[in-house]
Amino acid sequence: METRYCYCCRVHHPQDQMHRFPTSRGVRWRCRRSIEAAQCGVSERDAFGKEQTKINRAATQEIAEQVFMARSERYLLR
Ligand SMILES: [Zn+2]
Repeated sequence: METRYCYCCRVHHPQDQMHRFPTSRGVRWRCRRSIEAAQCGVSERDAFGKEQTKINRAATQEIAEQVFMARSERYLLR
């Protein structure tokens, strides 16, 4: 069976698992599994990042409300 050198895994894989993959240094051969693994990693990181942003925004909103409440309470006590 014909094999190709996978620049990602640094081993040879059967040709039918290999895909041409454009990199900054030209087209390299990469196995399907490594490409799929990379894509999966990116989408998981994206989902995590979005979730984290949402949490941060909610926390900021909560703090802003608390500061506002504290200020208006102080104002009312004057
Ligand atoms: Zn590979």
